[in-house]
Amino acid sequence: MSNDLMEWLTAQINHDEQIARQAATTYGGAPDWRHYIIRDELNNHTTHAMDVAARTILAAEEPAKPDDEYPLMPAELVHIALHDPAHVLRQVAAHRRILARHTTHDSGTDEDGTPWSITYCGHCNETHPCGDLADLASIYAERPGYDPTWVVE
Ligand SMILES: [Zn+2]
Repeated sequence: MSNDLMEWLTAQINHDEQIARQAATTYGGAPDWRHYIIRDELNNHTTHAMDVAARTILAAEEPAKPDDEYPLMPAELVHIALHDPAHVLRQVAAHRRILARHTTHDSGTDEDGTPWSITYCGHCNETHPCGDLADLASIYAERPGYDPTWVVE
C-alpha cells in the first residue's frame, strides 16, 4: 500500500508541474504573475490587476457595481496571483524533497532470517506511509485515486 501512495502522490505532483509549466507558457506567458492595486482617489474606486507577461487582467472594482462584467472578483484575482506558476513550481520542488526524505528504509530480517513484513519510513521511523506522507497526499484528496484510508490520525 505504501508504494501505491508514493506512486499516486508522485503522479499528482508531476501533474501539478505540467499544468504550471503550461500556464506559464500560454500566450507568451510567464511564471510570475504580478498582482497590484490601482487606486482611483477621484472616484473612490480600487481595482485589482494582475500582469501575466504582457497581458493585464483586471478584477471587478471595489466597491463592486451591479453591472460589472469582469470575470473575477478582487479576492479571486489575488488568490490566482498568489498561486501563480512560479509558486506552484516551488511547491512541486518542496513536495519532491519531502517525498525523497520519507522513503522506506531497507527491509531487514528477523533473527531467523524471515523478512520484515512491515516497512518503515526512513525519516520518521513510523510505519510507511508515515503521517507526513499521508498529510501531503491529503492536499490532493479531491483527485481520482485518493484512498481515504491513507489518513493517519
Ligand atoms: Zn516519514
